[in-house]
Amino acid sequence: MFRAEISQGTSLGRLVKPFVESGTLASDELVDAIVTHHLKRVDISRGYVLDGYPRNVEQATHLDRIAKLNLAIQIKISDKEAVRRLQGRLQCRRCKQVYHKTYAPPIKPGVCVICGGHLVKRADDTEDVIRKRLAGFHFMTEPLATYYRQRGVLLSINGEQAIPYVFEDILKKIRKLGFTE
Ligand SMILES: [Zn+2]
Repeated sequence: MFRAEISQGTSLGRLVKPFVESGTLASDELVDAIVTHHLKRVDISRGYVLDGYPRNVEQATHLDRIAKLNLAIQIKISDKEAVRRLQGRLQCRRCKQVYHKTYAPPIKPGVCVICGGHLVKRADDTEDVIRKRLAGFHFMTEPLATYYRQRGVLLSINGEQAIPYVFEDILKKIRKLGFTE
C-alpha cells in the first residue's frame, strides 16, 4: 500500500516516502490514513487480507472502526532467522516482485522471471535497518498478539518451517476453523 501511494505520487505517498526509505515506522495517523484510503477503493465484501498491518494496538482499534476482522495470523520466527531471511531478499526494480537468494531464487540470477527487470536488494534490507525494525517490532507488536488472543481470533503459526510448510499450516488451520480460500 505504501509503495503504491509513493509510485502514484499522492500526497500520502510523499509523506510516507522518507519512512519507507529509511526503514523506520511512520506515525499511526499516517499509516491508518493510507489503509483507510485503500480499503475504501477496493471491494472487501468477499473478504480481504492485510499483511503487516495493524502493527500495534492503536492501529488495531482504528481497523476495528473501519472494517471487520475475523482472524489475526501470527507467523512466529526468531530474530536470527528474520535477519537471515531478509538479507537474502531481492526485489524486481520494475514490477516489485519479491525473490529470495536461497528460498525463492529467479531462474536466471539477477533477472525477474515475470518482466525481465533487474533484481536489487531493497534499500531497507541492510542488517542495521533490519535490527532497528526488529527492536521496534518487539516493543509495539507483541501487545497486539495479546489484544487478538483475548478476542479469541489469534492463530499462531510456526514460521521457522520451510516456507511452503508455513503456507500449508495456515491453510490447514483456517480450514479447520471453517474459513474457505
Ligand atoms: Zn519484474
